[in-house]
Parts: sequence; structure tokens; C-alpha cells
Amino acid sequence: MMEMIEHHRTEEGKGMGVAMTVCPFCGMGCGLVLLGRSAFPLDNHPVSQGGLFLRGWASGELLFSPLRVRYGLVRDSNGTQRPLSVEDALEIARRQLKDLCQRYGPEKIGVLGSARLTTEEIGLLKQLSDAIGTPHRDSFQRMGYLPFPAKGLETIEEASDVTVLATDCAHRHPQAHRRLVRAIYKNHKVRFVDSRRLPLSQFPDYADYVEALPGSELDRLPNSCIGLTVLSSEIALEGQGSRAWMALDRQRTVFLTDYVNQRGLVESGFYPPADGMGAFEILQAASEGKLKALIVFADDPSEFFPEQTKQAFARVEWSLVVDSLLTPTARLAHLVLPGALLWEKDGTVTNTEGRVQQVGPVQEPLAGWTEGQIIACLLEEWADAGNGITPGPLPYPDGGISPDPPDESYPMVLTLDSGTFWNRHIFSQASVTVWREARNERADFPNGYVSLNPEDARKLGVRPFSDALIEAREGTLRLRVKVDQRPARGVALLPMSLWEAAGTALKSLIVDPALKIPIFRPTPVRIRPAP
Ligand code: SF4
Repeated sequence: MMEMIEHHRTEEGKGMGVAMTVCPFCGMGCGLVLLGRSAFPLDNHPVSQGGLFLRGWASGELLFSPLRVRYGLVRDSNGTQRPLSVEDALEIARRQLKDLCQRYGPEKIGVLGSARLTTEEIGLLKQLSDAIGTPHRDSFQRMGYLPFPAKGLETIEEASDVTVLATDCAHRHPQAHRRLVRAIYKNHKVRFVDSRRLPLSQFPDYADYVEALPGSELDRLPNSCIGLTVLSSEIALEGQGSRAWMALDRQRTVFLTDYVNQRGLVESGFYPPADGMGAFEILQAASEGKLKALIVFADDPSEFFPEQTKQAFARVEWSLVVDSLLTPTARLAHLVLPGALLWEKDGTVTNTEGRVQQVGPVQEPLAGWTEGQIIACLLEEWADAGNGITPGPLPYPDGGISPDPPDESYPMVLTLDSGTFWNRHIFSQASVTVWREARNERADFPNGYVSLNPEDARKLGVRPFSDALIEAREGTLRLRVKVDQRPARGVALLPMSLWEAAGTALKSLIVDPALKIPIFRPTPVRIRPAP
């Protein structure tokens, strides 16, 4: 195999179906060898160290997914998307973008990018948004990112005292979970501060568990905790991001990223400046008719906000989506252009550790174009563009968001749980193996669920697989009940895909002004059997 890889590295060997590359599913950045559609772990890779997890093994399936975009699509007057050549679609995109910019002004255009792009492509996209002159640029794949300095994963297993703060490493950051297991084997002190009983926290002989209500995890950090803190976007998605940023020692914190190039995205400056709108605000503004055009490169706002995305795309005069996969967002666009997967282009991505890694190509782009080439063509229209917009450092000052505590009338706290398979991520849908895993939960809970621990379920009189009413001060929700050991006492968990539906019904979906991201505010609720 090493001979094939060496051959691939030569000019002659490029695109011959072998690539030493990176798993695109999460921010860990496991190294793998792709042989056609089969992925194999790299023995000596510093992150994966000869191992891969389910998503990594199945990642080659993305290349041949039926969801791949193979040509341009343009919406006709009946609303149907009709195929056309990429060159013709690109010509329409160049004309429309320039025309809309001249007619309405650059501030009427919103640009969404993605951590699925290479750092070089993100740089080009920033140039394009700068050239257009719009301050409204962001990505839904930035959500929850906090700019702690990058640290190697080995820091976790080397620290003698580790606190994992509101972060499900087992499901979302498996390579970090491996390092935690090793730390435990070395008899290092490991504790979990969380509103969920995570896999390792259930063994008191090995690790301490500090039970915390959602939104109060930072307050539950023990005074004795003097070592390393490990956290991820989850704390920011509860509205505690700027507090965590202020409270935690930057040198003794490991921040785990969610997406393959999330760190590259933010370090390239692709986020809104203080006077620009964040990704969710861009959707809101478009839905209210305040924006005229949306340009989306490999981002899929439908994953978390399907209704808001539909409204936004229905209201704007023109929309362009460039993606390698036909996402639900792409299906709403006026014009779709095909992009390429990471393994069909040259470039770099930056993993959670700040490790800059080279990717692909294992084959030529399926439709002959990469996102970078498309951005470069669009940029030709703005050859004499002005200076770039430099965003200030995140988080912007704001004052933070205080969670409402539970009380006698609303004794439980409802929050989102990001560590479940009940999701709409386009990579999950495009990979047969991963989607099979997700389908089990989909089959049992087609419309989602609220998860309660057995003790709470018994006290509340709600039975597994029955419907429950979830009542908050500002709204009510009806959901099927899932009973398991995961939620702590007094905690009700929702899968992330219900963010918009539950957040809208209970008025828990708000924008954190410090990070310019949507959050689900932990919400006091009462729960009873549905009539
Ligand atoms: S840990 Fe992340 S990068 Fe590694 S195989 Fe799993 S999904 Fe891929």
C-alpha cells in the first residue's frame, strides 16, 4: 500500500484512486488512506494512531453517494430545478451577483461558507465577500467555536488532573475519548461536570461525576480543579460561551472542534465583523425581506433550521448554493453549482489540535469543478475590489446570557443533547453505513423525542414510547418519551435536530450577541403524560 501512496504523490499518480488524506466527519482529523471507496487507517498517524471509528471507515462512501451534484441546476418559472451545464450556470451566477450588488448594494447580500472547504478555499471566499463588500458572512459550521489556543490531544492523557466540562467526547470527539481512557488507566484524576451521565462518568471507581443542571456547568466546577479543562461547542450552544472564555485559563484548556476545518474557518477570519450578521441572523434577515441574495458554499442551514431556511430562500430575490452534495438547502436554491469533496481537491485543513493536514485528491472532481475554482471565476468580476474586512476578535463584548433556574412550577430543565444519532447531517445521509445507524433511532422516534432518566419518568408518570406534554412558561411541545440513563436527575434532553422546532415552540431559540450564534437557552419545564 505504501508504494501506491508514494506513486500517488507523483504528478503522474495524482487522481489514480489512492490518497493519503483525512476523515471529513469531525474536527479530530484522523488520517486515512482512501483506496477507491474503501478507507483504511494510517498506522503512524499522530491523531488516529492506527485506529478509525465507524464514520471514518465509512467515509469513502461519500464519493459515490447518489446525493452527489453532477451538473448545474437552475430553477425555472414553475419552481422546478432543471439541469444545465456548469459553464452556463457559472455565467448566470457571475451576471446575477454583479447585477444584484449594483442594484441593491453589497449589504443586501449574505454569504455562508463552510468548514468542509479547504483553508485555501475559505481564504478565497473571504476575498469574494470582501470584494462584494458585504459584512454579512459566516458559517453554521462555526457555531459554538471558542478561540482557545490549539493544544495536542496528548495533553489530555498527560495531564494529572482533567475536567471534562459539558462535553460528550465518546460520541462527538472519539479520539479525545481514547486519550481520556488512557489518562484513567494511568490513574490520573478525571472528572466530568455535565447534565448527562456520559459513558465514562458512570464508573465511580475510575472517574468523578459532578451532576450539573444545563447552563450551570461552569458554576459547578469544583474549586479543587486545578488541572486541564476539556470542553467543546456544547457550552457555547447553551449561551455560556463568553462566560467560559472569560472564566477558563487559556493555557490549561483544550477546546475540541466539531468540523474537519472549523479551526481553519475561524483562523482565516471567515466570521462576521462587529457590524455584520452571523449565520442565523443572515437567515432571519433574509426571511424578513432585509436581504436580496444568499450565496452558500458547502453550508447546510437546513440541518438545524429547516423552516427558517425555507422562509429565507423563498423570500430572497436570488440564491446560489455550491455544494458537492444535494443538501436540503441546495434543493431550495435558484441556482446550484457542483462542488467537490475534500478528497477531490488539493488543499489543507486544520484539525482541533491546530495540525495543518494535506487532503486528496483521490479522483478528479465529479463534475470537473471545485468550490475554489468557482469562487475564483466569480472573483474575476471584482478584479478592482477594495480592501478586506478584518473582523475583531471573538467573542464580542456583551454581558452574557443567564439561564432561568427551575422552580416549583417548572421543576425540570430542558436542553439540547448534541451526542445523538437522531440528526440531519448531510454526511450521515450520504453515507449508507452511517445512515443505517441513524435509522434505528429514526424508526423508533420518527418525529423526535424527549429523553428522561427512569427515576424522573416514573415520578412524572410518563411511560417509554408514550407521548408527553412539555410545558414551559412561554409555550408547549408534545413529544414521544425515550427513557434511558443518559439525562441526570431533573434534566430533559432533546436531539439537536429539534433545535428549531422546540426552540420556536418554547421561545428558547435566541441569538447570543457575544458570539453571534443561535443558542438553545436551557429552559425550565414541567412534563406530564399527554392526553
Ligand atoms: S474521530 Fe472524527 S475524524 Fe476520526 S474517524 Fe471518527 S469521525 Fe472521523
